Amino acid sequence: MLVVMQEGAAEAQIQAVIDRLVGAGFTVHRSTGVLHTVLGGVGPVENFDPADFEVMDGVKETHRIVSPYKIASRHFKPGGTLIRLGSVEIGGSHVVTMAGPCSVENEDQIERAAEIVARAGAQIIRGGAFKPRSSPYSFQGLGEEGLRIMRKAADRHGLFVISEVMDQTQIPLLVEYADILQIGARNMQNFNLLRKLGEIRKPVLLKRGIAATIEEVLLSAEYILSGGNYEVILCERGIRTFETATRNTMDISAIPVLKRLTHLPVVADPSHGTGKRDYVLPMARAAAAGADGLLVEVHHDPDHAVSDGAQTLRPEQFQEMMSQVRAIAKAIGRSA
Ligand code: PEP
Ligand code: MN
Repeated sequence: MLVVMQEGAAEAQIQAVIDRLVGAGFTVHRSTGVLHTVLGGVGPVENFDPADFEVMDGVKETHRIVSPYKIASRHFKPGGTLIRLGSVEIGGSHVVTMAGPCSVENEDQIERAAEIVARAGAQIIRGGAFKPRSSPYSFQGLGEEGLRIMRKAADRHGLFVISEVMDQTQIPLLVEYADILQIGARNMQNFNLLRKLGEIRKPVLLKRGIAATIEEVLLSAEYILSGGNYEVILCERGIRTFETATRNTMDISAIPVLKRLTHLPVVADPSHGTGKRDYVLPMARAAAAGADGLLVEVHHDPDHAVSDGAQTLRPEQFQEMMSQVRAIAKAIGRSA
């Protein structure tokens, strides 16, 4: 149930609606927009009549929400969610690039990565310190040491940091060192982890699971949002299909579909989306289908990267990608 307040509704009118929603058994999530305040009532309340709320003072309209996700719905925040990291805005007209190696390997590597990322004009460095590898014998990440050296390199180059959190016990470390916590595709339905991330107050980037529908992605986001953490970014990173020419099938159409269904920013990951570096640039261009940002793997020497080398861009390819993405963004009234 959504209650949209009239333009300029008084605080007392808003409070009266909140009180009535709470009295009816709803948990209320408030979105205060520039013009309208929207109140989202969530809960297993069946016996209510939206008309009772529609006639209250200061109410513009009410909507009974039929989709299984509520706070993630575009209706909840029609103007879209803007996530701010200093002067960087994710979800606005600027296409934000998050780039760096698949894994944090050592201090020299991450320093070089930060330099490549900053020089190309990207704002956020990525790198996994905790790695969800398909094999237990593959490199599992440097852990806290990896986070520490990435933070240091990022600060030296004026970058923000995104890194993956694999389970609840790692949340305090990630909160300490990173600016955005990434949930990997394999953890998209780790509901205990999602709930815990609803309790923090830092942005979370939620990757689409390898076999997840768009509705399932939105329901996973709803777990985080319903905990009170409203800063969720969604990421299309390819899904598993019958196709074997690419590592995954990058679902470009998911981008405009998500932009219609939800107010949350949407980012595209053409590296995991394709698995091959030659396809990263064309798919980064295709992400102009509406993505608010890109998540891309780049390394000073991808042939010797400890993970995902085949899909990792060389520095000059990353530069070229950035300049093409910038040109496309300009053509569609955005910047990059
Ligand atoms: C990654 O970003 O390096 C990663 C492991 O991604 P995904 O969860 O999409 O496989
Ligand atoms: Mn990777």
